[in-house]
Amino acid sequence: MKAIQIAIDGPASSGKSTVAKIIAKNLGYTYLDTGAMYRCATYLALKSELTKEHISMLLAELAAHPISFAKAVDGSQEVFLGDKDVTLAIRQNDVTNNVSWVSALPEIRQELVAQQQRIAASGGIVMDGRDIGTVVLPQAELKIFLIASVEERAMRRYKENQEKGIPTDLETLKEEIAARDFKDSNREVSPLKAADDAIVFDTTGVTIEEVVSFISEKANEILDK
Ligand code: C5P
Repeated sequence: MKAIQIAIDGPASSGKSTVAKIIAKNLGYTYLDTGAMYRCATYLALKSELTKEHISMLLAELAAHPISFAKAVDGSQEVFLGDKDVTLAIRQNDVTNNVSWVSALPEIRQELVAQQQRIAASGGIVMDGRDIGTVVLPQAELKIFLIASVEERAMRRYKENQEKGIPTDLETLKEEIAARDFKDSNREVSPLKAADDAIVFDTTGVTIEEVVSFISEKANEILDK
């Protein structure tokens, strides 16, 4: 059966990973959370107290601790650096608040994009991130760009953090999300932006089920051709 590539991009907490996971599961495709990979690089930088002056050391750390994904017993995704489970560690505030400078480093992007393209080469894939439709998978058959108001995205992340036991203040979260949007959209290399051929979808006030069914319909139209 024909397998396609689905790129889902958008700003922080726009619902990308939630819908991407469901769509991948429904289609029997691989799901790749590229944000988790930039978070892993950030975790390594913080752990070894590296700054943007130490790019070759950070690349060496990444090579020594390969990023991999596994499925937990409850079906959720686990993230590993070498044999260390960093699933929760990469969602902590220190990583979230440092990921923009690490992800702006061209050498780090080059390495992680190459890894992402290797993973995509193995078949049907749903990948979420910031530059999937523009840089990682420019040939993707379906490109979706999800947006939502800062208020709604902050509330989503607040609830997620509460469930994970990560202490958070809603107002601080709004400021952090807006700041991360700004940095991700204004960096020189691969800034956050919709590909010219992407479908832009505003998820403010829209349920996850509605977003999933919209994207699934588009995917099925392509698969049925
Ligand atoms: O998706 P998530 O919020 O976990 O992504 C964390 C950060 O990783 C983003 O704020 C962005 O700086 C970076 N990122 C990126 N390119 C991607 C995915 C994420 O620069 N494809």
